[in-house]
Amino acid sequence: MDIDFIPIAALNHYSYCPHRYWRIFCASEFEDNQYTIDGTTLHERVHTMGDLNLGEIWQIRAIYLKSEQYNLIGKADLIEAENGHFYPIEYKRGKKGEWANDELQVVAQALCLEEMTQTTIDIGYVYYGQTHQRQEVKINSNLRQSAFTTIKAIQEINQTKKIPKAVYSTKCKGCSLYSACLPMANDKVNRYRESE
Ligand code: SF4
Repeated sequence: MDIDFIPIAALNHYSYCPHRYWRIFCASEFEDNQYTIDGTTLHERVHTMGDLNLGEIWQIRAIYLKSEQYNLIGKADLIEAENGHFYPIEYKRGKKGEWANDELQVVAQALCLEEMTQTTIDIGYVYYGQTHQRQEVKINSNLRQSAFTTIKAIQEINQTKKIPKAVYSTKCKGCSLYSACLPMANDKVNRYRESE
């Protein structure tokens, strides 16, 4: 049985683009752009702030999370607990995008936290640096199912070593791997191969 653990952040990247997941986590490629540099700076700041007790709310930063059941591992930016209820908060630069990739990362954190605390978590948040707002993420059955499907798809790539196609889309514009990936050229190669 393959027990390789999947980094929690991998669900975010896979959901954004399976080919991007493969480049980062299988081919060990990573290119910074302004978005990723801003994101790293934000995470470094979050990860050096330590623990806090704010009356009813207890906060812990930069804690490692793990799920044996779902083979997940990673680091949470911030976990809060209030009246015995835990919830994860993921920090992102920018503002909420059109896609659910950040939400999926929060669900993966919640799955780990549920296993570690033996509680049920039905809410989490993404904090967006540009708007300085927490976006609520409902850990509902749809999002849980998306996370399970994504975990399965990632495991399949890891086991079969099959490279997901680079498919050009509007997401490519903000992708730091654009110049390495050249998705438009790849699209043409894919279409040529499929027509053969
Ligand atoms: S440039 Fe586009 S196809 Fe290539 S990895 Fe990024 S999002 Fe995916």
